[in-house]
Amino acid sequence: MSLTLDATINRLLRKAKITENSAVVFKNFIACDGHDDNAILRIVTHAHHDHIYGLRESIKKTPFIGMTEATYDILTALGYEIPENKTLILNYDKEIKIKDAKISLHKAKHIIGAAQVLVIDEEDDRLVYTGDFKLPSTPILGADLLVIEATYGNPNHVRPFKYEVEDLFVDLVKTRLAKGPVHIFGYHGKIQEAMEILRSRGIDAPFVVPRRVYKVTKAAMKHGLRVKEVFYYKSFEAEEIVKTGWYVFFAHLNTARIYSKQSVTNIVLSGWEFSEPLRQINEKTYLVALSDHADFEQLLEYVEKSKPKIVITDASREGSAYILAREIKKKLSIPAIALP
Ligand SMILES: [Zn+2]
Repeated sequence: MSLTLDATINRLLRKAKITENSAVVFKNFIACDGHDDNAILRIVTHAHHDHIYGLRESIKKTPFIGMTEATYDILTALGYEIPENKTLILNYDKEIKIKDAKISLHKAKHIIGAAQVLVIDEEDDRLVYTGDFKLPSTPILGADLLVIEATYGNPNHVRPFKYEVEDLFVDLVKTRLAKGPVHIFGYHGKIQEAMEILRSRGIDAPFVVPRRVYKVTKAAMKHGLRVKEVFYYKSFEAEEIVKTGWYVFFAHLNTARIYSKQSVTNIVLSGWEFSEPLRQINEKTYLVALSDHADFEQLLEYVEKSKPKIVITDASREGSAYILAREIKKKLSIPAIALP
């Protein structure tokens, strides 16, 4: 590595860090997806639990909380109350300026409202944080310094079946619905994506959901989710629907113990499956490999097309950040480190 390259990289590295609190911090005052005491702006890239660490503290201490309107609505559905005078709704591709830095959010294909962060500073350096994303349908941002998620940062994390999962999922639900109710478990966001896949492929059985999933789904519908016939499970209609036995019940993965039943078909949506798109766990339980994250090859594709001078892989969240950094250096010859 030449001396000038080193100097450039060092200069760039002073502009970004990832803290023990899982905050991706740019220029010491923009904290993404974690709380930082010195931040002026806390950005929430999306409403998944591992990206809203310390949000209640940020709501108390940080002057501004920035996010898309869809993320704001989902956070509200999840019980977060962000004061109006701190709320900074940022539309995709619209730039704001704080302390000589131009800050903008850009679409990320992940859950509704998800965003990437671009900061262009006074030296015209482009600092990018991808947040969570998958390809295609996520615009690849050109970066000088790139902070990238590393969920599937291991070369073994490649799905050979990228495009057949949805078909298999729809067929499974169709077949099993003929035999009785189907219960589907996943994270917020993925549940709504699954709903949309089923509806768009002609599954018209009513959807029945617990309260929080109902609220998040309503927020997502406000922002373009194309799903109809969703009922809160304690409503009169839902009680009548359940009696017929022809319905799909959706619940958060963390509540699977409460809502999975021997008497129904249970389907778990999980990205952590690389061998087969669909796997039967026991007589009535199936695992479908529906993922919201780029696999290993897509992470490398993003880095290659973004053309950064230095990459930071996010080791503060679940994933394989150290392996990904090593692979980026080896396969793309681009300097990369895992932080924190
Ligand atoms: Zn996420």
